Amino acid sequence: MSSENGENEALNEISKKIEDNWESFVCALEKKISLKAVSAEGISSPTMKASAEFVAQCLRDAGIDNARVEQATQEDGTPGAWEVVGQKDVGSDKTVFLYAHHDVQPAGDESAWRTPPFKGVVERGRLYGRGSSDDGGGIMTHVGALTALKGNLNCNVKVFIEGEEEMGSPSFVPFLNAHPDYFDADVMFITDSSNWSAKIPSLTSSLRGNVTMDVTVKCLEHPVHSGTFGGPILDANTLSCMLVSSFYDKDGNVVVPGLVQGEPIGGLKEDLSEEDFRKDSSLLPSCRLAGSGSLASRLWTKPAIALTGMNIRPVKEAFNQLASECTFRLSVRISPLQKAEDAAKALKDFIMKNAPFGCQIDVHVLETGTGWAMDPHNPVALKAEKCFQEVFGCAPENKGEGGSIPMIPILQAKFPKANVLVDGPEDPLTNAHAPNESQDLSELRGDMEAEALILSSL
Ligand SMILES: [Zn+2]
Repeated sequence: MSSENGENEALNEISKKIEDNWESFVCALEKKISLKAVSAEGISSPTMKASAEFVAQCLRDAGIDNARVEQATQEDGTPGAWEVVGQKDVGSDKTVFLYAHHDVQPAGDESAWRTPPFKGVVERGRLYGRGSSDDGGGIMTHVGALTALKGNLNCNVKVFIEGEEEMGSPSFVPFLNAHPDYFDADVMFITDSSNWSAKIPSLTSSLRGNVTMDVTVKCLEHPVHSGTFGGPILDANTLSCMLVSSFYDKDGNVVVPGLVQGEPIGGLKEDLSEEDFRKDSSLLPSCRLAGSGSLASRLWTKPAIALTGMNIRPVKEAFNQLASECTFRLSVRISPLQKAEDAAKALKDFIMKNAPFGCQIDVHVLETGTGWAMDPHNPVALKAEKCFQEVFGCAPENKGEGGSIPMIPILQAKFPKANVLVDGPEDPLTNAHAPNESQDLSELRGDMEAEALILSSL
């Protein structure tokens, strides 16, 4: 028998097990939605604990016999999130770590939902409800894969279902440091991301890092009359704007030396659709896109600098005065391949050297987070791509993310040898964090089958 037939057989077996349990998976996801696990209403609340208990039960049913709930403690000693953990040791020399999160975003404006946000409703092959996909889809991907391999696992498994991802994970690092053995693994599946579409699978190949800094521009000892002094003296607000505009060339490319300009990790098969991008972002028709190169590189692997706050007089309180001082905040997204501290230094150096008209400048770096990039040649990623292709019938189109998932670089730094794979059953129609969130059910089934196939073939 050729190995391909062998894998087809394994896949048939997996598909059958998932088919046999399908109704119960959908039922469990509907129940999970109804638990209303909004972490913004309190990560240590009884509601969050009930959600964690339910997920632990699902994992026990899927064969992780010791799946249980543990409460984390925050850095300052206050009670943290209700985490779900579990381990299954089958005596293999390979250990796989499975991640998802059980907390959800608030529903927001409920009148914008077509169906009740905390009731699972199936319509045209999609299950609607808050958390149906982000990250109920991730939880059920693991539950489905483990169910398909129940009694048949050939690698050790560790599961961690986080209870506070949507709140920026305040107790994650203390929990990780208290229990490194819950996490240590050869392969890590972080299942909280998206596919290219419901029909085309993806691995997430990179996440950008971020730097947040405050910049203060000062030019006068005190504000002065704009009629008496304006002309030879530029006010601090205008100087700040000049400084910000010096980050770009005329096409809107960031031209700060030392900020790494990357290309999509592992190459780009197909660029993003500009039409969809314009629609999704609500960009006005007259506005041109900034920057050059592929749209994907501009979103995933090149730097982006946004001015997100500025201390300037509100328009209705404005009067004829030259401002002496202006502080503004920059939110910088950086290449997944650059250390955040290096990017912060590069931008700070550029700002200090380019003070318009010799103004005084003070830079205060508030936050840095390094990004993450998959090694596209690592054998586990290649194996995963093959399994996705077998299940979905087409090769994956890997994609980067413009945003960050801070726990991934933290985990990767703690376990540098681990092969981290980021995937997940969201798709462009999911509406995560927005009204009418939904999970495509055939895509979820595909992700379950692919994960089971990868686990069985490691
Ligand atoms: Zn998520």
